[in-house]
Amino acid sequence: MAGEPLPDAFAGAMRDLLGAEWPAFRDALVEGRPVRGLRLHRLAPADGEATERTRGLHPTAALAVAAPPLPLPADLGAHLGPPVPWSGGAGWYLPPGSPAGHHVLHEAGAYYLQEPSAMAAAAALAPRPGEAVLDLCAAPGGKATALARLLRGRGLLVANEPDPARARVLARNLGRLGVDAAVTQEAPERLASAWSGRFDAVLVDAPCSGEGLFRKETTARTQWSARGVVGCARRQRAILAAAAALARPGGRILYSTCTFNPEENEAVARWALDALGLSADPMPPPAGWEPGRPEWVPAGAASAEALAQATCRLWPHRAAGEGAFLARFRRDGTPAPERAGRRTAAPGPAGVPGWPEWLRELLGGGGPPASWERPLSHRGVLWAAAAPDLPLAGLTVVAPGLALGVRTAGGAFQPHHHLAMALAPAAPRQPRALDRRAAAAYLAGEALPGGGAPGLCWIHVGGLPLGWARDVGARTNNLYPKALRRVDLVTDW
Ligand code: SAM
Repeated sequence: MAGEPLPDAFAGAMRDLLGAEWPAFRDALVEGRPVRGLRLHRLAPADGEATERTRGLHPTAALAVAAPPLPLPADLGAHLGPPVPWSGGAGWYLPPGSPAGHHVLHEAGAYYLQEPSAMAAAAALAPRPGEAVLDLCAAPGGKATALARLLRGRGLLVANEPDPARARVLARNLGRLGVDAAVTQEAPERLASAWSGRFDAVLVDAPCSGEGLFRKETTARTQWSARGVVGCARRQRAILAAAAALARPGGRILYSTCTFNPEENEAVARWALDALGLSADPMPPPAGWEPGRPEWVPAGAASAEALAQATCRLWPHRAAGEGAFLARFRRDGTPAPERAGRRTAAPGPAGVPGWPEWLRELLGGGGPPASWERPLSHRGVLWAAAAPDLPLAGLTVVAPGLALGVRTAGGAFQPHHHLAMALAPAAPRQPRALDRRAAAAYLAGEALPGGGAPGLCWIHVGGLPLGWARDVGARTNNLYPKALRRVDLVTDW
Protein backbone atom coordinates (compact mmCIF):
# COMPACT_ATOMS: atom_id res chain seq x y z
CA MET A 1 0.00 0.00 0.00
CA ALA A 2 1.60 3.23 -1.08
CA GLY A 3 0.94 6.48 0.81
CA GLU A 4 2.84 7.57 3.89
CA PRO A 5 6.55 6.67 3.73
CA LEU A 6 7.92 4.17 6.24
CA PRO A 7 9.28 5.99 9.33
CA ASP A 8 12.99 6.73 8.81
CA ALA A 9 14.16 5.29 12.13
CA PHE A 10 12.18 2.09 11.52
CA ALA A 11 13.50 1.74 7.98
CA GLY A 12 17.10 2.36 9.09
CA ALA A 13 16.94 -0.19 11.89
CA MET A 14 15.32 -2.88 9.73
CA ARG A 15 17.79 -2.26 6.88
CA ASP A 16 20.65 -2.87 9.32
CA LEU A 17 19.06 -6.02 10.72
CA LEU A 18 17.92 -7.59 7.45
CA GLY A 19 20.89 -6.71 5.21
CA ALA A 20 20.39 -8.31 1.80
CA GLU A 21 16.76 -9.12 2.59
CA TRP A 22 15.83 -5.50 3.23
CA PRO A 23 14.68 -4.62 -0.34
CA ALA A 24 12.27 -7.58 -0.49
CA PHE A 25 10.94 -6.75 2.98
CA ARG A 26 10.51 -3.05 2.14
CA ASP A 27 8.76 -3.85 -1.15
CA ALA A 28 6.37 -6.22 0.64
CA LEU A 29 5.46 -3.45 3.09
CA VAL A 30 5.28 -0.55 0.66
CA GLU A 31 3.96 -2.17 -2.51
CA GLY A 32 2.46 -5.46 -1.34
CA ARG A 33 -1.25 -5.93 -0.89
CA PRO A 34 -2.49 -6.68 2.62
CA VAL A 35 -4.00 -10.15 2.91
CA ARG A 36 -7.37 -10.82 4.54
CA GLY A 37 -8.74 -13.94 6.13
CA LEU A 38 -11.73 -15.56 7.71
CA ARG A 39 -11.79 -18.14 10.51
CA LEU A 40 -14.75 -20.48 10.62
CA HIS A 41 -16.52 -20.46 13.97
CA ARG A 42 -19.83 -22.32 13.75
CA LEU A 43 -19.01 -24.06 10.47
CA ALA A 44 -16.56 -26.67 9.22
CA PRO A 45 -15.84 -28.23 5.84
CA ALA A 46 -17.50 -31.62 5.43
CA ASP A 47 -14.25 -33.57 5.33
CA GLY A 48 -12.37 -31.91 8.17
CA GLU A 49 -12.96 -30.83 11.68
CA ALA A 50 -16.65 -31.72 11.93
CA THR A 51 -15.96 -35.40 12.45
CA GLU A 52 -13.07 -34.71 14.79
CA ARG A 53 -15.13 -32.30 16.87
CA THR A 54 -17.91 -34.79 17.62
CA ARG A 55 -15.57 -36.42 20.13
CA GLY A 56 -15.69 -35.15 23.72
CA LEU A 57 -18.80 -33.02 23.56
CA HIS A 58 -20.14 -30.85 26.32
CA PRO A 59 -22.76 -32.77 28.31
CA THR A 60 -25.45 -30.62 26.77
CA ALA A 61 -25.73 -29.99 23.07
CA ALA A 62 -27.80 -26.89 23.87
CA LEU A 63 -24.63 -24.84 23.82
CA ALA A 64 -23.55 -23.99 20.29
CA VAL A 65 -19.81 -23.86 20.99
CA ALA A 66 -20.03 -27.42 22.34
CA ALA A 67 -22.05 -28.81 19.45
CA PRO A 68 -20.41 -30.13 16.28
CA PRO A 69 -20.01 -27.36 13.70
CA LEU A 70 -22.54 -27.12 10.90
CA PRO A 71 -21.47 -27.97 7.34
CA LEU A 72 -19.88 -25.17 5.34
CA PRO A 73 -22.41 -23.94 2.73
CA ALA A 74 -21.16 -24.73 -0.78
CA ASP A 75 -21.38 -21.12 -2.01
CA LEU A 76 -19.27 -19.86 0.90
CA GLY A 77 -16.77 -22.68 0.39
CA ALA A 78 -16.46 -21.75 -3.30
CA HIS A 79 -15.86 -18.11 -2.36
CA LEU A 80 -12.88 -18.79 -0.09
CA GLY A 81 -9.25 -18.65 -1.15
CA PRO A 82 -6.68 -21.24 -0.05
CA PRO A 83 -6.53 -22.43 3.60
CA VAL A 84 -4.27 -20.53 6.01
CA PRO A 85 -1.62 -23.20 6.75
CA TRP A 86 -1.09 -22.29 10.44
CA SER A 87 -4.74 -21.79 11.40
CA GLY A 88 -5.37 -25.28 12.76
CA GLY A 89 -7.72 -26.09 9.90
CA ALA A 90 -10.13 -23.22 10.61
CA GLY A 91 -8.81 -20.29 8.54
CA TRP A 92 -8.97 -19.32 4.86
CA TYR A 93 -7.65 -16.42 2.81
CA LEU A 94 -10.32 -14.14 1.40
CA PRO A 95 -10.33 -12.88 -2.18
CA PRO A 96 -9.81 -9.10 -2.55
CA GLY A 97 -13.09 -7.20 -2.28
CA SER A 98 -14.85 -10.06 -0.48
CA PRO A 99 -18.17 -8.96 1.08
CA ALA A 100 -17.71 -11.45 3.95
CA GLY A 101 -17.98 -8.66 6.56
CA HIS A 102 -21.36 -7.56 5.15
CA HIS A 103 -22.92 -10.97 4.77
CA VAL A 104 -25.84 -12.33 6.82
CA LEU A 105 -23.69 -15.34 7.74
CA HIS A 106 -21.22 -12.99 9.45
CA GLU A 107 -24.00 -11.63 11.69
CA ALA A 108 -24.95 -15.23 12.49
CA GLY A 109 -21.44 -15.87 13.83
CA ALA A 110 -20.66 -18.37 11.11
CA TYR A 111 -17.12 -16.99 10.95
CA TYR A 112 -14.86 -14.24 12.27
CA LEU A 113 -12.84 -11.99 9.98
CA GLN A 114 -9.25 -12.27 11.10
CA GLU A 115 -5.93 -11.26 9.62
CA PRO A 116 -4.27 -14.57 8.66
CA SER A 117 -1.10 -14.30 10.78
CA ALA A 118 -3.29 -13.57 13.84
CA MET A 119 -4.71 -17.09 13.49
CA ALA A 120 -1.49 -18.69 14.73
CA ALA A 121 -1.63 -17.60 18.38
CA ALA A 122 -4.64 -19.63 19.60
CA ALA A 123 -3.40 -22.68 17.71
CA ALA A 124 0.05 -22.28 19.36
CA LEU A 125 -1.43 -21.94 22.86
CA ALA A 126 -3.57 -25.00 22.02
CA PRO A 127 -6.05 -25.00 24.91
CA ARG A 128 -7.60 -28.38 25.60
CA PRO A 129 -11.27 -28.86 26.55
CA GLY A 130 -11.58 -28.56 30.34
CA GLU A 131 -8.68 -26.14 30.81
CA ALA A 132 -8.87 -22.73 32.49
CA VAL A 133 -7.74 -20.13 29.93
CA LEU A 134 -7.19 -16.38 30.28
CA ASP A 135 -6.83 -13.91 27.41
CA LEU A 136 -5.30 -10.82 29.05
CA CYS A 137 -5.49 -8.34 26.13
CA ALA A 138 -8.58 -9.63 24.40
CA ALA A 139 -10.46 -6.90 22.45
CA PRO A 140 -11.92 -7.09 19.87
CA GLY A 141 -11.97 -10.84 20.48
CA GLY A 142 -10.42 -12.57 17.46
CA LYS A 143 -8.14 -14.78 19.50
CA ALA A 144 -10.57 -15.17 22.42
CA THR A 145 -13.23 -16.58 20.10
CA ALA A 146 -10.64 -18.94 18.60
CA LEU A 147 -9.70 -20.09 22.10
CA ALA A 148 -13.39 -20.67 22.89
CA ARG A 149 -13.77 -22.82 19.85
CA LEU A 150 -10.80 -24.95 20.88
CA LEU A 151 -12.25 -25.36 24.40
CA ARG A 152 -15.49 -26.70 22.87
CA GLY A 153 -17.67 -25.43 25.70
CA ARG A 154 -15.72 -27.30 28.37
CA GLY A 155 -13.44 -25.48 30.77
CA LEU A 156 -13.19 -21.82 31.61
CA LEU A 157 -12.45 -18.79 29.44
CA VAL A 158 -11.85 -15.31 30.84
CA ALA A 159 -11.36 -12.48 28.33
CA ASN A 160 -9.90 -9.28 29.77
CA GLU A 161 -9.59 -5.85 28.18
CA PRO A 162 -8.69 -2.74 30.19
CA ASP A 163 -10.06 -0.20 27.70
CA PRO A 164 -13.78 0.33 28.49
CA ALA A 165 -14.99 0.98 24.92
CA ARG A 166 -12.97 -1.94 23.57
CA ALA A 167 -14.21 -4.19 26.38
CA ARG A 168 -17.80 -3.50 25.24
CA VAL A 169 -16.90 -4.44 21.66
CA LEU A 170 -15.25 -7.59 22.99
CA ALA A 171 -18.38 -8.60 24.92
CA ARG A 172 -20.52 -7.94 21.84
CA ASN A 173 -18.30 -10.07 19.60
CA LEU A 174 -18.20 -12.92 22.11
CA GLY A 175 -21.99 -12.71 22.29
CA ARG A 176 -22.42 -12.80 18.52
CA LEU A 177 -20.26 -15.90 18.36
CA GLY A 178 -22.15 -17.59 21.22
CA VAL A 179 -19.14 -17.75 23.51
CA ASP A 180 -19.85 -18.18 27.23
CA ALA A 181 -16.79 -16.42 28.67
CA ALA A 182 -16.38 -14.06 31.60
CA VAL A 183 -15.32 -10.58 30.43
CA THR A 184 -13.35 -8.35 32.78
CA GLN A 185 -12.07 -4.82 32.31
CA GLU A 186 -8.95 -4.69 34.43
CA ALA A 187 -5.25 -3.97 34.57
CA PRO A 188 -3.47 -7.36 34.38
CA GLU A 189 -1.68 -6.58 37.67
CA ARG A 190 -5.02 -6.46 39.50
CA LEU A 191 -6.07 -9.78 38.04
CA ALA A 192 -2.72 -11.24 39.11
CA SER A 193 -3.39 -10.22 42.73
CA ALA A 194 -6.88 -11.76 42.64
CA TRP A 195 -6.25 -14.94 40.65
CA SER A 196 -2.65 -15.96 41.21
CA GLY A 197 -1.81 -19.41 39.79
CA ARG A 198 -5.33 -20.19 38.55
CA PHE A 199 -4.89 -20.69 34.78
CA ASP A 200 -3.65 -23.56 32.65
CA ALA A 201 -3.01 -21.25 29.72
CA VAL A 202 -2.61 -17.47 29.43
CA LEU A 203 -2.54 -15.47 26.20
CA VAL A 204 -0.75 -12.11 26.08
CA ASP A 205 -1.58 -10.63 22.68
CA ALA A 206 0.25 -7.51 23.65
CA PRO A 207 -0.45 -3.90 22.71
CA CYS A 208 2.55 -3.08 20.50
CA SER A 209 3.97 -0.50 18.09
CA GLY A 210 2.10 -2.22 15.23
CA GLU A 211 4.87 -2.26 12.60
CA GLY A 212 3.24 -5.39 11.17
CA LEU A 213 0.24 -3.21 10.30
CA PHE A 214 2.26 -0.74 8.18
CA ARG A 215 1.00 -2.42 4.99
CA LYS A 216 -2.64 -2.66 6.09
CA GLU A 217 -3.10 0.73 7.77
CA THR A 218 -0.89 3.61 6.67
CA THR A 219 -1.93 5.53 9.82
CA ALA A 220 0.16 2.95 11.74
CA ARG A 221 3.18 4.50 9.96
CA THR A 222 2.36 8.04 11.09
CA GLN A 223 1.62 6.97 14.68
CA TRP A 224 4.89 5.04 15.07
CA SER A 225 7.81 6.52 17.05
CA ALA A 226 11.05 5.17 18.50
CA ARG A 227 9.88 6.40 21.91
CA GLY A 228 6.63 4.50 21.44
CA VAL A 229 8.61 1.29 20.95
CA VAL A 230 10.35 1.81 24.29
CA GLY A 231 7.03 2.49 26.03
CA CYS A 232 5.44 -0.59 24.46
CA ALA A 233 8.32 -2.81 25.57
CA ARG A 234 7.95 -1.53 29.14
CA ARG A 235 4.22 -2.21 29.15
CA GLN A 236 4.68 -5.65 27.58
CA ARG A 237 7.04 -6.67 30.38
CA ALA A 238 4.50 -5.60 33.00
CA ILE A 239 1.74 -7.61 31.29
CA LEU A 240 3.97 -10.66 30.96
CA ALA A 241 4.91 -10.44 34.66
CA ALA A 242 1.19 -10.52 35.49
CA ALA A 243 0.70 -13.45 33.11
CA ALA A 244 3.51 -15.37 34.82
CA ALA A 245 1.74 -14.90 38.17
CA LEU A 246 -1.64 -15.90 36.74
CA ALA A 247 -0.42 -19.17 35.19
CA ARG A 248 -0.48 -22.25 37.40
CA PRO A 249 2.77 -24.14 37.99
CA GLY A 250 3.31 -26.02 34.73
CA GLY A 251 0.92 -23.66 32.89
CA ARG A 252 1.58 -22.23 29.40
CA ILE A 253 1.92 -18.60 28.35
CA LEU A 254 1.78 -17.45 24.76
CA TYR A 255 3.11 -13.96 23.99
CA SER A 256 2.33 -12.39 20.63
CA THR A 257 2.86 -9.06 18.89
CA CYS A 258 2.25 -7.68 15.41
CA THR A 259 5.53 -5.79 15.21
CA PHE A 260 9.02 -6.40 13.81
CA ASN A 261 11.47 -4.65 16.12
CA PRO A 262 13.44 -7.00 18.40
CA GLU A 263 12.98 -4.70 21.45
CA GLU A 264 9.31 -5.74 21.71
CA ASN A 265 9.92 -9.31 20.58
CA GLU A 266 13.07 -11.32 21.33
CA ALA A 267 14.22 -8.83 24.01
CA VAL A 268 10.92 -9.12 25.90
CA ALA A 269 11.00 -12.90 25.52
CA ARG A 270 14.57 -13.05 26.81
CA TRP A 271 13.60 -10.86 29.77
CA ALA A 272 10.68 -13.22 30.55
CA LEU A 273 13.10 -16.16 30.67
CA ASP A 274 15.75 -14.33 32.71
CA ALA A 275 13.73 -12.12 35.04
CA LEU A 276 10.44 -13.96 35.46
CA GLY A 277 11.95 -17.43 35.69
CA LEU A 278 9.74 -18.79 32.92
CA SER A 279 10.98 -21.71 30.82
CA ALA A 280 11.12 -21.66 27.05
CA ASP A 281 8.43 -23.95 25.63
CA PRO A 282 9.91 -25.10 22.31
CA MET A 283 7.56 -24.55 19.42
CA PRO A 284 8.37 -25.61 15.86
CA PRO A 285 7.55 -22.56 13.70
CA PRO A 286 4.21 -23.07 11.92
CA ALA A 287 4.51 -23.68 8.16
CA GLY A 288 5.70 -20.44 6.55
CA TRP A 289 7.01 -18.93 9.82
CA GLU A 290 10.66 -18.68 10.81
CA PRO A 291 12.51 -19.01 14.11
CA GLY A 292 13.05 -15.89 16.24
CA ARG A 293 16.32 -13.97 16.02
CA PRO A 294 18.14 -14.14 19.40
CA GLU A 295 21.26 -12.67 17.79
CA TRP A 296 19.40 -9.36 17.40
CA VAL A 297 19.22 -8.74 21.16
CA PRO A 298 21.88 -8.63 23.91
CA ALA A 299 22.84 -11.98 25.43
CA GLY A 300 21.26 -12.98 28.72
CA ALA A 301 21.16 -15.95 31.05
CA ALA A 302 18.84 -17.93 28.77
CA SER A 303 20.66 -19.55 25.86
CA ALA A 304 20.20 -18.28 22.33
CA GLU A 305 19.12 -21.78 21.36
CA ALA A 306 16.31 -21.84 23.95
CA LEU A 307 15.16 -18.40 22.82
CA ALA A 308 15.20 -19.38 19.14
CA GLN A 309 13.23 -22.57 19.82
CA ALA A 310 10.52 -20.80 21.80
CA THR A 311 9.98 -17.92 19.37
CA CYS A 312 8.94 -17.47 15.77
CA ARG A 313 8.23 -14.72 13.26
CA LEU A 314 6.10 -14.24 10.21
CA TRP A 315 7.78 -12.11 7.53
CA PRO A 316 5.45 -10.58 4.93
CA HIS A 317 8.04 -10.96 2.15
CA ARG A 318 8.23 -14.70 2.83
CA ALA A 319 4.69 -15.76 3.73
CA ALA A 320 1.14 -14.55 3.06
CA GLY A 321 0.33 -12.61 6.22
CA GLU A 322 1.10 -9.39 8.06
CA GLY A 323 4.14 -9.27 10.38
CA ALA A 324 3.81 -11.19 13.64
CA PHE A 325 5.87 -12.65 16.47
CA LEU A 326 5.10 -15.51 18.89
CA ALA A 327 6.90 -16.74 22.02
CA ARG A 328 5.77 -19.67 24.15
CA PHE A 329 6.72 -20.15 27.79
CA ARG A 330 5.97 -22.52 30.60
CA ARG A 331 5.81 -21.70 34.27
CA ASP A 332 7.96 -24.17 36.19
CA GLY A 333 6.48 -26.58 38.71
CA THR A 334 3.85 -29.27 38.79
CA PRO A 335 0.16 -28.50 39.07
CA ALA A 336 -1.75 -29.04 42.27
CA PRO A 337 -4.20 -31.94 41.83
CA GLU A 338 -7.27 -29.72 42.27
CA ARG A 339 -7.20 -26.18 41.04
CA ALA A 340 -9.79 -23.65 41.96
CA GLY A 341 -10.79 -21.43 39.06
CA ARG A 342 -11.86 -24.40 37.01
CA ARG A 343 -15.49 -24.53 36.05
CA THR A 344 -17.28 -27.05 38.23
CA ALA A 345 -20.80 -28.41 38.11
CA ALA A 346 -21.66 -26.12 41.04
CA PRO A 347 -24.95 -24.32 40.48
CA GLY A 348 -25.27 -20.56 40.66
CA PRO A 349 -25.71 -18.83 43.96
CA ALA A 350 -29.41 -18.29 44.36
CA GLY A 351 -32.56 -19.58 42.72
CA VAL A 352 -34.66 -17.06 40.79
CA PRO A 353 -38.29 -18.09 41.34
CA GLY A 354 -40.00 -19.13 38.12
CA TRP A 355 -36.86 -18.87 35.99
CA PRO A 356 -36.02 -22.60 35.57
CA GLU A 357 -39.59 -23.37 34.50
CA TRP A 358 -39.63 -20.45 32.06
CA LEU A 359 -36.27 -21.45 30.60
CA ARG A 360 -37.30 -25.09 30.20
CA GLU A 361 -40.46 -24.00 28.45
CA LEU A 362 -38.36 -21.87 26.07
CA LEU A 363 -35.79 -24.55 25.37
CA GLY A 364 -37.56 -27.87 25.68
CA GLY A 365 -35.42 -30.74 24.47
CA GLY A 366 -33.06 -32.20 27.04
CA GLY A 367 -33.39 -29.11 29.23
CA PRO A 368 -30.88 -26.38 29.96
CA PRO A 369 -27.53 -26.92 31.73
CA ALA A 370 -27.64 -26.56 35.54
CA SER A 371 -25.73 -23.25 35.47
CA TRP A 372 -28.44 -21.75 33.24
CA GLU A 373 -31.20 -22.76 35.65
CA ARG A 374 -29.54 -21.09 38.69
CA PRO A 375 -28.42 -17.80 37.17
CA LEU A 376 -26.33 -15.06 38.64
CA SER A 377 -27.92 -11.61 38.77
CA HIS A 378 -25.52 -8.81 37.73
CA ARG A 379 -26.37 -5.29 36.46
CA GLY A 380 -30.03 -6.24 35.97
CA VAL A 381 -29.24 -9.26 33.77
CA LEU A 382 -29.39 -12.99 34.58
CA TRP A 383 -26.19 -14.77 33.60
CA ALA A 384 -24.88 -18.32 33.40
CA ALA A 385 -21.71 -17.84 35.45
CA ALA A 386 -18.71 -18.81 33.32
CA ALA A 387 -16.30 -18.72 36.27
CA PRO A 388 -18.26 -19.67 39.38
CA ASP A 389 -15.11 -20.45 41.38
CA LEU A 390 -13.13 -17.32 40.53
CA PRO A 391 -13.37 -14.46 43.04
CA LEU A 392 -14.81 -11.46 41.19
CA ALA A 393 -15.33 -9.09 44.13
CA GLY A 394 -13.61 -5.75 43.61
CA LEU A 395 -12.99 -6.37 39.88
CA THR A 396 -14.76 -4.63 37.01
CA VAL A 397 -16.82 -7.36 35.41
CA VAL A 398 -18.39 -6.52 32.05
CA ALA A 399 -19.95 -9.96 31.72
CA PRO A 400 -19.70 -12.76 34.31
CA GLY A 401 -20.64 -15.30 31.64
CA LEU A 402 -23.38 -15.91 29.12
CA ALA A 403 -26.24 -13.37 29.32
CA LEU A 404 -29.43 -15.43 29.59
CA GLY A 405 -32.25 -12.99 30.14
CA VAL A 406 -33.80 -10.20 32.15
CA ARG A 407 -36.74 -9.98 34.51
CA THR A 408 -39.03 -7.09 33.64
CA ALA A 409 -40.50 -4.69 36.19
CA GLY A 410 -43.73 -6.69 35.96
CA GLY A 411 -41.90 -9.90 36.93
CA ALA A 412 -41.95 -11.52 33.46
CA PHE A 413 -38.80 -12.93 31.85
CA GLN A 414 -37.32 -11.95 28.51
CA PRO A 415 -34.54 -13.87 26.78
CA HIS A 416 -31.23 -12.06 26.17
CA HIS A 417 -30.03 -11.81 22.58
CA HIS A 418 -26.81 -13.63 23.53
CA LEU A 419 -28.81 -16.63 24.74
CA ALA A 420 -30.21 -17.00 21.22
CA MET A 421 -26.68 -16.73 19.80
CA ALA A 422 -25.38 -19.46 22.14
CA LEU A 423 -27.98 -22.07 21.21
CA ALA A 424 -27.49 -25.02 18.92
CA PRO A 425 -30.40 -25.92 16.63
CA ALA A 426 -31.37 -28.90 18.80
CA ALA A 427 -32.15 -26.71 21.81
CA PRO A 428 -35.01 -24.22 21.28
CA ARG A 429 -38.60 -25.43 21.40
CA GLN A 430 -39.80 -23.08 18.65
CA PRO A 431 -37.20 -22.66 15.90
CA ARG A 432 -38.13 -20.54 12.87
CA ALA A 433 -35.96 -20.98 9.76
CA LEU A 434 -35.43 -18.02 7.42
CA ASP A 435 -33.83 -18.07 4.01
CA ARG A 436 -30.97 -15.60 3.53
CA ARG A 437 -33.14 -12.89 2.01
CA ALA A 438 -35.64 -13.06 4.89
CA ALA A 439 -32.71 -13.20 7.31
CA ALA A 440 -31.35 -9.91 5.90
CA ALA A 441 -34.81 -8.35 6.40
CA TYR A 442 -34.93 -9.66 9.99
CA LEU A 443 -31.45 -8.24 10.71
CA ALA A 444 -32.64 -4.87 9.34
CA GLY A 445 -35.44 -4.90 11.95
CA GLU A 446 -38.42 -5.83 9.77
CA ALA A 447 -41.37 -7.78 11.16
CA LEU A 448 -41.91 -11.33 9.91
CA PRO A 449 -45.12 -12.93 8.72
CA GLY A 450 -47.08 -14.52 11.59
CA GLY A 451 -49.09 -17.67 11.64
CA GLY A 452 -46.97 -20.00 13.75
CA ALA A 453 -47.64 -21.04 17.32
CA PRO A 454 -47.89 -17.91 19.47
CA GLY A 455 -44.91 -17.10 21.67
CA LEU A 456 -41.15 -16.74 21.45
CA CYS A 457 -39.34 -18.22 18.46
CA TRP A 458 -35.65 -18.76 17.85
CA ILE A 459 -34.74 -17.30 14.47
CA HIS A 460 -32.06 -19.02 12.43
CA VAL A 461 -30.63 -19.22 8.94
CA GLY A 462 -29.59 -22.75 8.02
CA GLY A 463 -29.20 -23.64 11.72
CA LEU A 464 -27.09 -20.54 12.48
CA PRO A 465 -28.69 -18.34 15.17
CA LEU A 466 -29.84 -14.80 14.48
CA GLY A 467 -32.00 -13.83 17.49
CA TRP A 468 -35.51 -13.94 18.91
CA ALA A 469 -38.95 -13.00 17.64
CA ARG A 470 -42.42 -13.21 19.16
CA ASP A 471 -45.31 -14.63 17.17
CA VAL A 472 -48.48 -12.73 18.01
CA GLY A 473 -50.82 -14.29 15.45
CA ALA A 474 -51.10 -12.04 12.40
CA ARG A 475 -47.42 -11.13 12.51
CA THR A 476 -44.20 -12.00 14.28
CA ASN A 477 -42.58 -9.14 16.19
CA ASN A 478 -38.88 -8.74 15.59
CA LEU A 479 -36.83 -8.82 18.83
CA TYR A 480 -33.43 -8.32 17.16
CA PRO A 481 -31.66 -5.61 19.24
CA LYS A 482 -32.11 -2.16 17.66
CA ALA A 483 -28.46 -1.26 18.26
CA LEU A 484 -27.31 -4.20 16.14
CA ARG A 485 -29.61 -3.69 13.15
CA ARG A 486 -27.91 -3.65 9.75
CA VAL A 487 -29.44 -2.39 6.52
CA ASP A 488 -26.33 -3.00 4.39
CA LEU A 489 -26.18 -6.80 4.42
CA VAL A 490 -25.76 -8.98 1.35
CA THR A 491 -26.84 -12.57 0.81
CA ASP A 492 -24.57 -13.54 -2.11
CA TRP A 493 -20.81 -13.59 -2.46
N1 SAM B 1 -6.27 -10.21 21.15
C1 SAM B 1 -7.06 -9.25 20.40
C2 SAM B 1 -7.73 -9.97 19.25
O1 SAM B 1 -7.24 -11.00 18.81
O2 SAM B 1 -8.77 -9.49 18.78
C3 SAM B 1 -6.22 -8.08 19.94
C4 SAM B 1 -5.50 -7.41 21.07
S1 SAM B 1 -4.67 -5.93 20.66
C5 SAM B 1 -3.28 -6.51 19.84
C6 SAM B 1 -4.04 -5.44 22.21
C7 SAM B 1 -5.11 -5.06 23.21
O3 SAM B 1 -4.46 -4.81 24.46
C8 SAM B 1 -5.87 -3.79 22.88
O4 SAM B 1 -7.25 -4.05 22.88
C9 SAM B 1 -5.51 -2.82 24.01
O5 SAM B 1 -6.56 -1.97 24.39
C10 SAM B 1 -5.14 -3.78 25.11
N2 SAM B 1 -4.26 -3.21 26.15
C11 SAM B 1 -3.69 -1.99 26.19
N3 SAM B 1 -2.97 -1.85 27.33
C12 SAM B 1 -3.11 -2.99 28.02
C13 SAM B 1 -2.62 -3.45 29.27
N4 SAM B 1 -1.83 -2.71 30.03
N5 SAM B 1 -2.98 -4.67 29.67
C14 SAM B 1 -3.77 -5.47 28.91
N6 SAM B 1 -4.24 -5.08 27.70
C15 SAM B 1 -3.91 -3.87 27.27
